[in-house]
Amino acid sequence: TPHSAKPDWHARARALTIDGRAWIDGQRVDAASGATFDKHSPVDGRRLAAVARGEAEDVDRAVRSARSAFEDGRWSRKAPAARKRILLRWSELITAARDELALLETLDMGKPIQYALGVDVAATARTIAWYGEAIDKVYDEIAPTGSNALALITREAMGVIGCIVPWNYPMIMAAWKLGPALATGNSVVMKPSERSPLTALKLAELAVQAGIPPGVFNVVPGYGHEAGEALALHMDVDAIGFTGSTRTGRRMLDYASRSNLKRVWNELGGKSAFLVFPDHQDPALAARTVAGAMYFNQGESCNAPSRVLVHASIADDFVAVLREEAPKYRPGDPLDASTVMGALVDEAQLRTVMGYIESGRAEGARCIVGGEQARTGSGGPYVEPTLFDGVTPQMKIAREEIFGPVLSVLRFQDEAEAVALANGTDYGLQASVWSHDINRAHRVARALRAGTVHVNQYDEDDITVPFGGYRQSGNGRDKSLHALEKYTELKTTWLRI
Ligand code: NAD
Repeated sequence: TPHSAKPDWHARARALTIDGRAWIDGQRVDAASGATFDKHSPVDGRRLAAVARGEAEDVDRAVRSARSAFEDGRWSRKAPAARKRILLRWSELITAARDELALLETLDMGKPIQYALGVDVAATARTIAWYGEAIDKVYDEIAPTGSNALALITREAMGVIGCIVPWNYPMIMAAWKLGPALATGNSVVMKPSERSPLTALKLAELAVQAGIPPGVFNVVPGYGHEAGEALALHMDVDAIGFTGSTRTGRRMLDYASRSNLKRVWNELGGKSAFLVFPDHQDPALAARTVAGAMYFNQGESCNAPSRVLVHASIADDFVAVLREEAPKYRPGDPLDASTVMGALVDEAQLRTVMGYIESGRAEGARCIVGGEQARTGSGGPYVEPTLFDGVTPQMKIAREEIFGPVLSVLRFQDEAEAVALANGTDYGLQASVWSHDINRAHRVARALRAGTVHVNQYDEDDITVPFGGYRQSGNGRDKSLHALEKYTELKTTWLRI
């Protein structure tokens, strides 16, 4: 009806005022140096904000604020049920601000507005609420010791958690850290990606409105080698919750070893395999599923199933379905509510992705869909959904994380080869097995070296299960009650009775 006209996201974008200052001690502040960096939108190139360029001095100020909040107990010593009420209010405020948050996310990193709203904001609100709901239902333990004493095993908040997050799901990655870290009573200093700093700042504003005391959640935007390094090296930070590339994750361990041996929780890259066996009854469904999961978020997902391993006997038919399916994800204007693929985060990412596409061609893979920069109205970093057939395991596109909409098809002859191929990278984030032979499905799922294995599906939208990787995809797990372990210390207390 005329009254339910769709929102005009372009008009809203023009009307939006964006504050790029840092959040320290419950207030907006400029960087101590007064420095800023310009954040441009990949959607249309426009300058969104001058963002505070935090450095060591700003990080130190935020850590001191976080420490004093932790020590005075204004959050850390509240009853869990009291923290719960505030987290639930925060979640409600996030939902109430959904249009603004979604718009900021889309303008900042280029994803389609319908997913920013329906996936990113929704998952962020749900994550905060879930940890709020959980935290007054978690009990500690008494050990079954044989002596005349009670041994209590309790979990205590660590103190100050540094969170360093990437740009591909800025809000969700922030929420996966904030939910468990704050619910358990810690204070947080967050360093969002310089490529997408805006929604974290808005989340901090809403947190204070919800009643999270000043100093408990601080956001210092800035560059990795400045604010990020200062946070990871800080002597008064107890743990780093990091999500990002394997390369930077390696540095996190180095920073910890050079400073105070803070705990480092790394959630890193992936090159997830999607295995299709000839005993699956609906290979076309498998093809549609892998295309949907691969091209979602412009292929900028750590768990993108970027390698399809297909049994040679069904590979030609499978590829024929993919060839029909992939072009449906053609990029469009991210602010148009019907767009399914948006812009890559920036021109640098465009060059990286185009470089991988060139390498695939140069190494002899056949590019059968896409392979080009997309022609959209605004120019900008848009890439066609791309499909390579005839990929072999030694090729760069089969081994390295591309972080763009590029899907590679490899063929296998038998189950052992499929498993060896799947496990044949440095990563181990996720995998998917498509088979209707129950024994095979279990056997292969067990043999795969990955933190999550999907059987006959590829969904990843449930906060109740752990998320994380084997090997160089990281350690620790985000989501679920297991994430509470990352931000708490285990204490044993002996009581003579
Ligand atoms: P990145 O490693 O370049 O940056 C991540 C964060 O680290 C940013 O905030 C950045 O500023 C900071 N950083 C960069 N260099 C630093 C340094 N020298 N010292 C301190 N901090 C530094 O990663 P990205 O490009 O932002 O994100 C993409 C990567 O994240 C991909 O590899 C993707 O697979 C991974 N990722 C993993 C998960 C997961 O849960 N496993 C989820 C999302 C993304």
